[in-house]
Amino acid sequence: MIVDILSLFPGYFKGPFNESILKRAQEKGLLTIRLTDIRDFADNRFHRVDDRPYGGGPGMVMMPQPVTMAIQHVKTPEAKVIYLSPQGRTLNAVKCRKLALEKHLILLCGHYEGIDQRVLDEEVDEEISIGDYVLTNGCLAAIVLLDAFSRFIPGVLGHPSAAAEDSFEGGLLDYPHYTRPEVFQGCSVPNVLLSGNHQEIAKWRHEQALKKTQEIRPDLLA
Ligand code: SAM
Repeated sequence: MIVDILSLFPGYFKGPFNESILKRAQEKGLLTIRLTDIRDFADNRFHRVDDRPYGGGPGMVMMPQPVTMAIQHVKTPEAKVIYLSPQGRTLNAVKCRKLALEKHLILLCGHYEGIDQRVLDEEVDEEISIGDYVLTNGCLAAIVLLDAFSRFIPGVLGHPSAAAEDSFEGGLLDYPHYTRPEVFQGCSVPNVLLSGNHQEIAKWRHEQALKKTQEIRPDLLA
């Protein structure tokens, strides 16, 4: 998959995409991430990308010209353009699975009060929010989105069924995990996990997942 990220701060992405699983996914050729600085497309002398809002009010708005030019520069016929926005539908695991099937995604990161509406009307296919709060800009939201859907690209995670056992798959939160040592600061690993009885272990894990979901996220069960 090719992912183009359009933002005013390409430097934001250097750490997260050069570590661990996302780094390996790129090395294996499963994912190509390209960063574009929207400011490079500003056609004015000072590379200005924002201006005051028509109608008044606080803050600045990203101008349509540089954003449109940046999108059109990377757009292909198969590309899906996503604007990270608090006004979008909230991201969830089902959406991440669907996005992992795309060939080319363009992630548009806003700043200030957001982007001139005409760009959203003409160039954007979908708006996605990462939660009901407002970030200072869209870069962190793009990192979260990319990290979350990459896990569903075949080959990105070490174990093929790793993602299928995580929280939200099957409508439940994950069960508790334990590793060595068997006793840590007086607390023991539950006996069932040491029993070697795979049926009992699966039953216990399901019960634990159900209990936690009922306590913390009853909405998932509904
Ligand atoms: N005026 C906008 C509003 O109230 O809906 C908020 C603009 S916010 C300060 C600047 C940029 O951050 C947005 O254009 C968007 O790209 C990004 N952003 C902020 N919160 C977000 C969220 N919850 N999910 C995705 N992107 C977000």
